[in-house]
Amino acid sequence: MYVFDRRAMKERLPQHIFEALMASIEGGQKLDSAMADMVAAAMKEWALSKGATHWTHWFHPRTEMTAEKHMSFMSKDESGMPIESFKGKELIQSEPDASSLPSGGIRSTFEARGYSAWDPSSPAFIMMSKKGGTLCIPSVFISYDGTPLDLKTPLLKAVDAVETRSMRLLKLFGNRGIKWAHVTVGAEQEYFLVDSAVAKNRLDIRYCGRTILGCPPPKGQQMEDHYFGSIPTRVLSFMEDVERDLYRLGVVITTRHNEVAPCQFEFAPQFADANLACDQNQQIMDVMRKMAKRHDFQLLLHEKPFAGLNGSGKHVNFSIMDSEGRNLLKPSSNHRKNIQFLTFLSALLLGVSKYHSLLRAAIASPGNMHRLGGNEAPPAIMSAYLGSTLTGILDAVEKGLPDDMPAQALIDLGMNKLPSVMADNSDRNRTSPLAFTGNKFEFRAPGAPQSIAGPLTMILAAWAWGLETVGDMIESRVGEVDALDAALEAIKFAAAESRAFRFEGNAYSPQWHEEAKKRGLTIVNSTPEALALFLLPENRELLSKLHIMTDREVIAYYEIRLEQFIKTVEIEMGVLRTMVWEGILPALSKQILLESSSLSVLPEDVRKEACSWSACIGRLGSLKTALISASEKLDAIKEKMHSLDMEEQAASITGEVLPLCAHIRQICDTAESFVAGDIWPYPTYTKLLSIS
Ligand code: ADP
Ligand code: MG
Repeated sequence: MYVFDRRAMKERLPQHIFEALMASIEGGQKLDSAMADMVAAAMKEWALSKGATHWTHWFHPRTEMTAEKHMSFMSKDESGMPIESFKGKELIQSEPDASSLPSGGIRSTFEARGYSAWDPSSPAFIMMSKKGGTLCIPSVFISYDGTPLDLKTPLLKAVDAVETRSMRLLKLFGNRGIKWAHVTVGAEQEYFLVDSAVAKNRLDIRYCGRTILGCPPPKGQQMEDHYFGSIPTRVLSFMEDVERDLYRLGVVITTRHNEVAPCQFEFAPQFADANLACDQNQQIMDVMRKMAKRHDFQLLLHEKPFAGLNGSGKHVNFSIMDSEGRNLLKPSSNHRKNIQFLTFLSALLLGVSKYHSLLRAAIASPGNMHRLGGNEAPPAIMSAYLGSTLTGILDAVEKGLPDDMPAQALIDLGMNKLPSVMADNSDRNRTSPLAFTGNKFEFRAPGAPQSIAGPLTMILAAWAWGLETVGDMIESRVGEVDALDAALEAIKFAAAESRAFRFEGNAYSPQWHEEAKKRGLTIVNSTPEALALFLLPENRELLSKLHIMTDREVIAYYEIRLEQFIKTVEIEMGVLRTMVWEGILPALSKQILLESSSLSVLPEDVRKEACSWSACIGRLGSLKTALISASEKLDAIKEKMHSLDMEEQAASITGEVLPLCAHIRQICDTAESFVAGDIWPYPTYTKLLSIS
C-alpha cells in the first residue's frame, strides 16, 4: 500500500502520538512541534521503505488540477555525509514559490509567497514513478496574509458549515449520542480513450483535449450499442492497471463500464468523506492520465471531445452520514427518522432553489459550454428531480393539513410509501442536473476535467444556508410544539419555496425552457454569463456570511475562471488557424489539382459532358476561398482582442469568435467530405473512434 492511512500510522507511531494525531484530525486540535517531528520522522521512514526519494506538499490551486514541487529527502551533513531528513516543520508548512499559479490579483509577483499547509484529514500517499516515488502531503494553499489561494480551503469551510448545522438539527431531533456528521461524496468519472498513435496526428487533441474539426462518423452512437457493452480487451487491461494503482493509494473503484458514446467509459469509486473524495478524484484523474500513456492511449477528460457525440461529465453523488453510520438522506421505516430525513432533504431544496445561480456558476467552464444543453447532458438550467413518491409527499405537506387531522398522521399516510423511494430509483430522470437517487443526491452538471471542489463548495454553501434556516424555524417553535411538528412546518415552508426549482419532466424539452423562464429560474447559456453569477450580491453575501469565501476571494475566483475561459479559447483559435493553414488549405489545393489534371487528360468529348465534375472542382475552390477569408477574419479579431480588457475579450469571444469558429468548422467539415482520404491531413472521427 502506498497510502499512509490509519493502519500505517498506528503501526509506525507511538501510541500517544497516534492518539494525538487522530484527535487533531477529528477535533481540529493543533499538533505541537515535537509531535509533528515524530509524525514527520515516521512518515519519512515509511516513505523511504517504499522507495520514495522525494516529498512534496500536494495542493489544489484554482486551476482545477493539483500542484506539486518535489523536495529531496536527501541532503548532506557538515562532514559531507549524505543524510535523509524531513522535519516536522516541513511536514506542517512549506513555501513553494508559486508565483505563477493564478490568484486573481490577490497576490502580485513581488509578494508572491504562498504557503502550503498540511491537511491531516486526507492521508499522505506516495506517487510511484519509474525510478522512485514522491511522498505527497495533501495541503491547503494560502497567501502570505492567510488568504486562501486554493480550492480545498473553501471546500473544507463549506463542509464544516454543513456539518455543524447538521449536528444542530440532529440535536433538535433528540439525537444525543451522535458525535459527528460527515458529508459523504462519490464522484463518477466519465472519460474517452483514443489510440495515441492516431491522436498524435491531431493538433487539436494534443493541445485542446478535444477535436475542434471533424465530420461526424457514419456510425456514431445511433445504435446505442456501446453503452454497458463488453469492454474492449485493451481498455479492460488499462482499467485493471488503473484500479490496482488506485487501490494502493487507498482509492477503491467499485464500478467500471462502457458509456454511451464510442470509446467512452466510466469509473465510479467507493464514496468517502467530502475532502478525501475530492483528493481521490484528483488521484483518479492523475493515475488515469499516466496509465493511458503506458497503454498507448490518449485520455480525453474534456467535456465535449467530439461534436455530435455525448460529452463527459462528473456525477457528484453526495449525502451526510452520522457517527452511527446512518445515511441522513435515506428514508427509513421509522417515523421519526423519516421526518428527520425530509428535513435534511428540504433544507437542501430550500438552499439550492434560492442559490441555484451559484450552482450554474460553479460548473461554468470553457468545455462545459459545448456540453451543457446538448440534449445528452444536463441542461444549462438548474433544477432538481425528486421522483413521484417524494414529490407527492412534499405536495401533501405543502397543501396543508385538514383541521381534524394531526400533521403527523398526514405525513404518515405518505410515509409508508417512503421505503419505496429506493425502488423508485429505477425510473429516475436522467435529464435532471440535480437528482435524488434514492438515498443521495447526484449533481450531474460538473464537467469531466473539473475539480469537484468548486461545485461541491457551492452546493454545500446552499445546503448550509438551508439547514440554518430550517434549524432556526424549528428552534423558534420548540417549546410551543413538538420538534416533529415544528419540523413539519419547516418542511412545508421549504416545499413551497422550492416549488419553482423542482421539475420532474423532461429537462431537455424546449417546453421546459419556456416553463423555466416563467418560473423565474436563471437561464444563461454562455460561460462568461454564468461566471458572472458569482458576482450577484446575494451569492457573495452567502459565501462571506458562512465564512467560505471572502468577498475579495469570490471576485478573484471569478476573475481566475474568466481568464481561464479566455486563454482556453485563445489556444483553440491558434490551433484552429494552424490546422487550417498547415493542413486543410493545402489539402484542398491538392485535391483541386488532382481533379483538374485528371479532368484535363480526358478525351475532349467526355470532358464536355463532365459538368458535375467541373462543378465539384469549383466547389472545392469556393470552399477554399471561403476558408481563407474566414480564417483571416479570425486573425483580425485575435489582433483586436489584445487591446481589450478581460470582460470585453469574453464578450468578443461569445459574440464573434465562437460563431466564427463554428463557421470555419463547418467549411472544414464539408471539405473533409469532398477530399480524398489519403489527401485529408488529419485522422477522421471514424479513425479516432476505433480502438485497435
Ligand atoms: P447509481 O446507480 O445511482 O449511480 P451507485 O451505487 O453506482 O449508484 O453509486 C454511484 C456513486 O455514488 C458511487 O461513486 C458511490 O460511491 C456513490 N455513493 C453511493 N452512496 C453514497 C452516499 N451515501 N454518499 C455519497 N456518495 C454515495
Ligand atoms: Mg450514477
